[in-house]
Parts: sequence; structure tokens; C-alpha cells
Amino acid sequence: MARELLEYFNERCQIQQDGCIYWIGTLSKRGYGDVHKNKIGRVYGVTSAHRLAYLLHYGTIPNDKIICHKCNVPKCVNIEHLYAGSLSDNLNDCYRANRRRSFKGENHPYAKLTERDVLEIRDLRTYGYSCAWIAPYYNVCNGTIKDIHTKKSWGWL
Ligand SMILES: [Zn+2]
Repeated sequence: MARELLEYFNERCQIQQDGCIYWIGTLSKRGYGDVHKNKIGRVYGVTSAHRLAYLLHYGTIPNDKIICHKCNVPKCVNIEHLYAGSLSDNLNDCYRANRRRSFKGENHPYAKLTERDVLEIRDLRTYGYSCAWIAPYYNVCNGTIKDIHTKKSWGWL
């Protein structure tokens, strides 16, 4: 692994008393360390700092895995707080904590998706999964995923 990558990473880590290591570079709207606009992110094909942490430690990220946080701190890049989970692990464990609750959309009689689904879909898009990949999982069409991603629908979440 390139030395510049390690340096880039180490320069942006800050160890916390509780054991988490916060990413002090750019954060995404959802609070994840954001590297995708950076040359490093483009070269190594990673969008988030915690994925970069995993990549640095293990040298690879399995294609069908999502890197999840045990500590539920999105900006944490402590390798010991990260694990490669399956999509369903992620849906079950990863993003439960501290979600803002609102039932505006899912109370709609025709709603196929729950609020949680919508937030998960946005996360999946953040992780780089395509609309076409996500849509069948939720039994909706590509356009629905796209609208959620661009906040054309469910914009209040
Ligand atoms: Zn942590």
C-alpha cells in the first residue's frame, strides 16, 4: 500500500478517550469521513474514510460486503470498531442508533418503504451501490431509488 495513502490517512485521525478514532477530514452529510472527492478516494475507489481504514488494514474490501461500525459512530475509523458485514447485517445492525423518527411517509397507505428503508437506501447509494442493484432488494423500480437519493421523494428525511 502506498506510503502517501498511509500518511494521508494518519494525518486525519484523532484518537478519542472512548477508543474511537475520529476522522477529522471532510465529513459527508451523514457524518461519514468523506474521501470521494479527494484524489486518494478516486485512485483507490473508496468513498468513505472507514472503508479506507479497512482497506489499509486488510488490503482489500470484499465486493459483496459493507464495512459497518460496531460503535455506531460514522466518522470512526478505528479498525477494531469496523467489520465487513453482509447487506442484511448492515440493515439489521448497523444503522439503528439515533435515527430521527418521523412517520410522515410510511403512514401513507400506498407506501412500500419505511423511513428506515429510505435512510438505508441513501446509505447504500453513499456506499456506491447502484440504483439498479438496490431496487430489487426493496422491490421498487430504479426511478424510486433515484428519487430517494436525489431527495425528490422523502426529502424531509
Ligand atoms: Zn469507534
